[in-house]
Amino acid sequence: MIIVVKSQVTCGTPQNGIVQGFRDINNTNYSNTPICINVQFHIVRDSNGSGGVSNAFVDQIVNLLNSKFNQHNIYIRNAGVDYINNSNFYNTNDSYFSSIVATNNNPNAINFYLVNSCSNWAGRAEQIVSRNLVIVNSYAQTGVSAHELGHCINLWHTFHGSPAEPSSGSCAEAINGSNCNSCGDYVCDTPADANVGATQGYNPDLTNIMSYSPPANLDHFTSLQGVRMRDALDGSPVLQQVKSNLCGGITGESIICPNISSTFSISNPNNYQVFWSVNSNLSVVGTPTNSSIVVKSATSTTSGMGVITATINGSTFNYQVWVGKPNIEVQLNSNSNYVDIDLISGEGNNITLQGINSTTWTKTASTNNGQAGGSGFSGFGHGPNLYWTVTLKITASNSCGTTEITRVITPAPPGPCNETLKLTKISKNNYEAIIIDPCSGSNTTSTSKQINTDNPITAELINMSGVRVAIFNKNKFDLNKYNKGYYIIVVTKNSKKIVQKILIE
Ligand SMILES: [Zn+2]
Repeated sequence: MIIVVKSQVTCGTPQNGIVQGFRDINNTNYSNTPICINVQFHIVRDSNGSGGVSNAFVDQIVNLLNSKFNQHNIYIRNAGVDYINNSNFYNTNDSYFSSIVATNNNPNAINFYLVNSCSNWAGRAEQIVSRNLVIVNSYAQTGVSAHELGHCINLWHTFHGSPAEPSSGSCAEAINGSNCNSCGDYVCDTPADANVGATQGYNPDLTNIMSYSPPANLDHFTSLQGVRMRDALDGSPVLQQVKSNLCGGITGESIICPNISSTFSISNPNNYQVFWSVNSNLSVVGTPTNSSIVVKSATSTTSGMGVITATINGSTFNYQVWVGKPNIEVQLNSNSNYVDIDLISGEGNNITLQGINSTTWTKTASTNNGQAGGSGFSGFGHGPNLYWTVTLKITASNSCGTTEITRVITPAPPGPCNETLKLTKISKNNYEAIIIDPCSGSNTTSTSKQINTDNPITAELINMSGVRVAIFNKNKFDLNKYNKGYYIIVVTKNSKKIVQKILIE
């Protein structure tokens, strides 16, 4: 007897479909709302009605799926179980896929077909974004179920676009992730993966559900995979009809201001007993019922994330609601004479949950001709040398009021091998960026060495109001067509940023 040990199982989902993005940057509140999806289970049996899995087996699949998807505020509802008696489908191959998923198909659910064996794959979604998948029973209680459902909700393999999975229109994610938005799996918090393991400079997450790892190792989705799925459930026409309001989940306002009571509700059609709790930023008003709770901010000065928790029939739902005025801080990403300034939550959580509708960035003082500005959640500071400071007043407002912070921005001291920019004027309004790396080459002390002038360089042209007016992906650029005046050029290479002020004549 020959035993073949296969560490990777095959996924049959076509990886060459249209890449769809559903990000709606104007919609910041929906991440608070639980999304419930119907999954209809189809148990395939032999033509004579024998074989097939039990309802209890299906319940265990639902529990497994919820354990992976609930973290991303996506809830799986068992919309029903039916049986299909067909020996060609029971022990099957890929040629039957479209016939299987056409059988008993529920248009208002993701259809989850359970077959006994398949000669081509362990599981397959119809395509990336679809309502249909087929899984071999022996893999259904592993991460393969979440993997195929992930494909239905717009997730690609973590190694998509690599030589292991080329397809037209795709591209490999760079090891440093610099092109993560447009290549690979289009998700920036999954490390680059070429399906070669942790070799050749790659350090993939081999427990990610969308990687090719042994099924028992497929453990989790990243938070941005969760965002990508929620975006698809929010925007994909194919998926709108699978959403349901029957999973439970808490609904209500996304922000509470001091001294105002607010009601939060839970879907509970069977009137199960609901156990409510709130965190220390909230207090409960009156007595909660099996359908709602009334809360207000804990104090008149509370500024932080409130969490409302409801446990209903064994499932626990959490709802985040921002309480009070914004709570903001700055995070500096400093690089020689340039500093990236990110406005972040003072509590360390996602600043987009604070309901902030406007910000101001005002320079109030500086030394050594330091400059700074910003808009929204991002700003920058720079100076002509490495020893400048800027005092920046930043305000953020939401419907509860305005919070102001003042911070002194300084550049970090340069490292001994920091690359520096030399911006050379070739001719009138024509420039060339050259990266000087003082530590490259054999002689690291006496001469700087010019390197990689042809490597991808990103140069941004920013006007004195802080607005980016152009971006160049090459190291030579012609600025003749832009309005005359002073600008900042920001050159980025290898995630380093360097700045120079120039005059367009
Ligand atoms: Zn797959």
